[in-house]
Amino acid sequence: MLLRVTDQGLYCEAGDFYIDPWEAVDRAVITHAHGDHARWGSRLYLAAREGERVLRTRLGDDAPIRTLPYGETIERNGVRISLHPAGHILGSAQVRIEYRGEVWVVSGDYKTEPDPTCTPFEPIRCHTFVTESTFGLPIYRWAPQAKTFAEIRAWWRQNRAEGRACVLLAYALGKAQRLLAGLADAGIGPIYTHGAVERLNQAYRESGIPLPHTTYALRRARGESWAGALIVAPPSALGSPWLRRFGSPSTAFASGWMRIRGARRRRALDRGFTLSDHVDWPSLLRAIEATGAERVWVTHGYREPVVRWLREQGLEAEAVASRWEGELDTESSAAPGVDDEAEASAETEE
Ligand SMILES: [Zn+2]
Ligand SMILES: [Zn+2]
Repeated sequence: MLLRVTDQGLYCEAGDFYIDPWEAVDRAVITHAHGDHARWGSRLYLAAREGERVLRTRLGDDAPIRTLPYGETIERNGVRISLHPAGHILGSAQVRIEYRGEVWVVSGDYKTEPDPTCTPFEPIRCHTFVTESTFGLPIYRWAPQAKTFAEIRAWWRQNRAEGRACVLLAYALGKAQRLLAGLADAGIGPIYTHGAVERLNQAYRESGIPLPHTTYALRRARGESWAGALIVAPPSALGSPWLRRFGSPSTAFASGWMRIRGARRRRALDRGFTLSDHVDWPSLLRAIEATGAERVWVTHGYREPVVRWLREQGLEAEAVASRWEGELDTESSAAPGVDDEAEASAETEE
């Protein structure tokens, strides 16, 4: 086995490195900057060059990060390592490792839908594929994203007509930027942001990803009306005092979980827009097939249904544990001087 699961996560013994380790280790190969994949304190990180700026918002400007452009190979103890686009967020990578003719690919989180804020997913042939299964149930099927963006625009127009602000909740890293890019030509504005979102917007812009103009909400002069504004904030802002400044805004959450009706009701949201940075069920199965893998390890999410389905197709499949589940919405914690109460709280989802 080229990889095995240890107390610290997925370990490659031949190359003596971990992939997305759960704790600080000597050598960590990182698929992407979300909190359940990029943990603090390792002595050396290897990550995709495209995501360096974003990764540093989590690990710090001084973090020992070595980067590799997509598709380039380095070798360690005879193990060839390369990173390939995963299409999940800016800089997200699949890790391909090859040793004595055996090829493994660890997907990290991924999606196959187009997203203007990151490089598209590339299927990589391998013997063993380690896949996520965040939405690994047949009920998860994403509508075309153009439809979702049209719904968001209609929601904003209606609220503007009623003189209300719109608060759109979305994970601060990745989803928020994808939403902003997708709404760039929708005529929506002005757009304001929560500090956690604005910081990541900055990192995206510095990485060369164009986003529409946004203003950090607390920069706005007091007493002005928020009617007709769109405010993009992380989910942790919901129910927090931070929201009070906007009067009685309409609230919505953009997430794959919004596919399930109860998810919106439980959060007392006005609207839920289904938009995910993960593969849905049909895309997951297609992506696995495209790898040509004969063995699949399934991790992160609904592991058992995916394993069962793959075994029915005659593949060798296994559920693999992960200590951290879902995007940890804690990008905000490295935010000196941002006085948002909401930013102190963390949320574990998607
Ligand atoms: Zn992720
Ligand atoms: Zn994840």
